[in-house]
Amino acid sequence: MAKKKQFKDEKMDKLVSLCKRRGYVFPSSEIYGGINACWDYGPLGAELKRNIKDFWWREMVHKRDDIEGLDAAILMHPKVWHTSGHVEEFTDPLVDCKKCKSRFKADDISTESCPNCGGELTDPRQFNLMFKTFMGPVEEDANVVYLRPETAQGIYVNFLNVQGPSRQKVPFGIAQIGKAFRNEITPGNFIFRTREFEQMEMQFFVHPSEDEKWFEYWKEKRWQYYLDLGITKEKLRWHEHGPNDLAHYAKAAFDIEYEFSFGWKELEGVHNRTDFDLTRHKEASGKDLRYWDEQTKEKYIPYIIETSAGCDRTMLTCLIDAYHEEEVKGEPRVTLRLHPRVAPFKAAILPLVKKQGMPEVAQKLYDDLRKRFKVFYDAGGAVGRRYRRMDEIGTPYCFTVDGQTLEDDTVTLRDRDSMEQSRHKIAEIPDLLEKKINGE
Ligand code: ATP
Repeated sequence: MAKKKQFKDEKMDKLVSLCKRRGYVFPSSEIYGGINACWDYGPLGAELKRNIKDFWWREMVHKRDDIEGLDAAILMHPKVWHTSGHVEEFTDPLVDCKKCKSRFKADDISTESCPNCGGELTDPRQFNLMFKTFMGPVEEDANVVYLRPETAQGIYVNFLNVQGPSRQKVPFGIAQIGKAFRNEITPGNFIFRTREFEQMEMQFFVHPSEDEKWFEYWKEKRWQYYLDLGITKEKLRWHEHGPNDLAHYAKAAFDIEYEFSFGWKELEGVHNRTDFDLTRHKEASGKDLRYWDEQTKEKYIPYIIETSAGCDRTMLTCLIDAYHEEEVKGEPRVTLRLHPRVAPFKAAILPLVKKQGMPEVAQKLYDDLRKRFKVFYDAGGAVGRRYRRMDEIGTPYCFTVDGQTLEDDTVTLRDRDSMEQSRHKIAEIPDLLEKKINGE
């Protein structure tokens, strides 16, 4: 058992090293020694993250008539955070070890003494997770503002601003992707828990009598999203919030969890938040946030079904789930088996050798493909080595221009996962690639 755990942690270490080496993720401000739990996404990381967000946006907004997009400000009126309960309640109890000065979430430790050194622990103290700053030049209490700890509140306060101009009728949703900030006590596990992260949230407004139906609907949709990202089904599960961890305002809450080496952890929450948020904002702002149903002549506060996912966590899941090692002909082969729809490069175009007109044909194919896809051109070195490099960064397909290409206008398609090779007409490559990426 212990051996297995060590192997899995080793896998994470290897992934972190690959991410640094290949330009996926680096420690932030690295030349100054880094800053705890802050990460920068390099050229490949930026692409992977963008692909995850684009896929989410396409599924949640573009493909639907009943969801509108929003991009609300990070800084909001401080009253928002008083009303939402974040100022008073968004806290974690914290304990410190008096001896080694380690800090823990009280909920995370079951022992009376420090899990690191056995030292005596302080009593738990409440620690607010919101980052504070000041608006304007004067640093005084009246000017305190917060970096938003979630994107959801931007949606609630804009409920009628979006509903009116878009002429949406309940049931409908508002979706947003954006940065959120939490002064986490115990960040870590690479990009799993950080202090600055991105959320992909959708709040779906429904008639109170239809909440359970929509809750089930969104559970199903959100589960499917992770399968469509290519995540191993057996490593996903639902966690239902029981009486002990169900938020006081929620009627039901389920999390989608993934089995990491450090345990089953939440990727996304699907929550029935009832009319709590809009009722609170209605009372605190004095603005009538009720929805007017013209057909039934009913005025009411809709219930909200929330789907709240972390982009960085999804990215870590895609990477760790995709990481594969094997031995091929006595040589180690590392592959990131990323789903083609999220892989940074969809394909690489490789002339077998830098002569006999092969680079020209390859360059032409590259220029055609780059109009539609993010692709990579690589002419240098042995082709086997070029394939391995693409395997390691997760490029699903390589198109190789060789001697036969010059005779019959076909190229070799080499598949990353199976390493199988097949020949295809150059003219058919763009549509073939499209089909392979989106299955459409
Ligand atoms: P956790 O229990 O892991 O702290 P949470 O229940 O506080 O998560 P929510 O408030 O429901 O999380 O936020 C929704 C999603 O935002 C989470 O499922 C997760 O994917 C992401 N998220 C939350 N906190 C962080 C963080 N510190 N770093 C990265 N992603 C986060």
